Amino acid sequence: MNLRYSKEYDTYRQSLQEFLKGWPLQGDEAELPKQKQEQLFRQRGVEAGYVYFAIPKEYGGAGQQPDVLKSAIITEEYARVGAPGNCVSQGPALLAPTLIEFGTEEQKREFVRPTLRGDLRWCQGYSEPGAGSDLASLQCSAVLDGDEWVINGQKIWTSNAQEADYMFGLFRTEPKASKHAGISYLLVDLKQPEIEVRPLKQMTGALDFNEVFFTDARAPAGNIVGKRGEGWAVSRSTLKHERNLIGNPNMMRAHFNSTIALARRSQRGGRPAIEDPLIRNRLAEIEGYVRTAEVSHLRQLTAEAKGEELKVMLPMMMNKLYSTDTMQKIMTLAYDLLGADGMLAPTAEDIASYARTHTSTGFVEQYIFSQGPAIAGGTTNIQLNIIGERGLGLPRDLRVPK
Ligand SMILES: Cc1cc2nc3c(=O)[nH]c(=O)nc-3n(C[C@H](O)[C@H](O)[C@H](O)COP(=O)(O)OP(=O)(O)OC[C@H]3O[C@@H](n4cnc5c(N)ncnc54)[C@H](O)[C@@H]3O)c2cc1C
Repeated sequence: MNLRYSKEYDTYRQSLQEFLKGWPLQGDEAELPKQKQEQLFRQRGVEAGYVYFAIPKEYGGAGQQPDVLKSAIITEEYARVGAPGNCVSQGPALLAPTLIEFGTEEQKREFVRPTLRGDLRWCQGYSEPGAGSDLASLQCSAVLDGDEWVINGQKIWTSNAQEADYMFGLFRTEPKASKHAGISYLLVDLKQPEIEVRPLKQMTGALDFNEVFFTDARAPAGNIVGKRGEGWAVSRSTLKHERNLIGNPNMMRAHFNSTIALARRSQRGGRPAIEDPLIRNRLAEIEGYVRTAEVSHLRQLTAEAKGEELKVMLPMMMNKLYSTDTMQKIMTLAYDLLGADGMLAPTAEDIASYARTHTSTGFVEQYIFSQGPAIAGGTTNIQLNIIGERGLGLPRDLRVPK
């Protein structure tokens, strides 16, 4: 099996590496606030063709021909030097590609560019108190009144709703239709008094989760993505992007490397922990899982590059499961290596900065957080069902009669 990129792609990688010599910024630019520096660099990336690679120029992207291998090289190289590539928050990572696929021309023009620039922040309104894994049983309703939707009900576990401007979400618009057929995908402005966002504290200490309550909230009739009652198909596109994002092995590799570094500097019985046979065994076992995830990701990329839809599906189904499971193994090992430091609470800085594994408390935060992705975007059990039923063709899960 040849796991190398072809010569053409190696040349592409070299030119990208040249561009990335511009990060970190130098001189006066290095004095700008961090967020400004990232914005500036990201803008240069769009102009050079290396950020929002395949999003058309008229909507704020680089306008390149879609090429999954080039996209993968970009992700790898940006991660390697820690440069700010595509924003990976819900708006740019999940909604923008969904709008490119399903949105009207007006929706693309109105929403995609400010979303990519980070000027418009989004949250994802799917889950409800009685609708998580069984998402199609959601009840939050939207009724068309003239040229507006009137929304009533509740969402829960809405990440980042506290700072979002808009929600992309699923609402029941056809109460008489069957479960899946009665749902529409709407874009809702959160900055209206008829919407209340109440934070929920996570076990990491972060306040990213929220309950969102709608009491006669309104959205323009034109803010429906896809057709009325066909929001389920649109939401599956968003979910695919979410699972791909969680399933990407780059973060796993970075955390594994930090854990190896932690094993080198931690002590066991007066010697570096990395010399302990039990720790070495666990590291070797995890290395196998990480490599498997990387190969599975490459299988997905190769199939995508060849346009082989069916072959893309199997690794894609596995990657989210594999990535969340392996991340938990990595973080459990890191936690064991921390010893007494594992009793420390994550600092405010760890909580605010995404995925920091340079400090003991950063590891503690990531250890606790590693439980989350195995639930978000569809739980591990559900993912196993999907692999069994759709991937391996096993008999369908027993459905509880109503
Ligand atoms: C970090 C994080 C971020 C999130 N962000 C968002 C967000 O931004 N927006 C949003 O809408 N939601 C969000 N969620 C919610 C998430 O999508 C739901 O928690 C998830 O879909 C599971 O639903 P549930 O919590 O209702 O659990 P349930 O569906 O009640 O599941 C409970 C358990 O039962 C198992 N189970 C259920 N049905 C079956 C079955 N048929 N077969 C086998 N096992 C089954 C599940 O696997 C799970 O282990 C987030 C969750 C997390 C952890």
